[in-house]
Amino acid sequence: MSKIVAIDGPAGSGKGTVAEILSEKCNLINIDTGATYRCVALAALNNNLTLDNVDEIVELSGKIKIEFTPDKRVLLDNKDVTDAIRSKEVTSIVSPISSILKVRENMVKLQREMAKNYDVVMEGRDITTVVLPNANYKFYLDATLEERANRRYKQYQEKGIDMTLEEIKENISKRDYNDMHKEVGSLIRTDEQVYIDSTNMTIEEVVNKMIEVIEE
Ligand code: C5P
Repeated sequence: MSKIVAIDGPAGSGKGTVAEILSEKCNLINIDTGATYRCVALAALNNNLTLDNVDEIVELSGKIKIEFTPDKRVLLDNKDVTDAIRSKEVTSIVSPISSILKVRENMVKLQREMAKNYDVVMEGRDITTVVLPNANYKFYLDATLEERANRRYKQYQEKGIDMTLEEIKENISKRDYNDMHKEVGSLIRTDEQVYIDSTNMTIEEVVNKMIEVIEE
């Protein structure tokens, strides 16, 4: 039987970094589900669609090809979009796009397909509850808004993405609200998740805590 580690949490809580390290340490395939919604958002922008074009966005989400390569690149219709899906434009529309029910249905189907037959660590907002509710290990990774905005700001500076700390904080706060108030696939805490507040923890401490749980 395959081993499944599911991690949910708000933007900037460290899920991406932690999942990447866990995947290497525990020999798991890392699936970043946020990247799939970001691909839909980028495809919508590339097709000059706005948030009002719901039918067209749904149609697009059903026909685009999204792939994660072994060297950790994200391909949208065979094109490398690893950096493009992190742009300010994508980040500002991805949450409302991910609220469209039929887009979620298409992405959840794709995410489950990606996880089939593999040992995986999958991170997102609804992994422990909707996508892989039978996961062997379930975590909710959290941190204060202040800390999450600071982390994102540092990441963006390293990548040369031009957003001020205030802009990032506002975007994360809006996404938090939207991600926690979705009709389906909302970010929620449950009794089955191991809750980790990483505000005052290093990445290494978070990873070690998760490995402790996994090895228990
Ligand atoms: O994790 P990341 O910040 O890249 O996710 C981008 C957006 O995609 C989130 O703000 C959220 O709205 C959406 N998302 C989602 N369900 C997931 C993962 C991400 O709705 N499982």
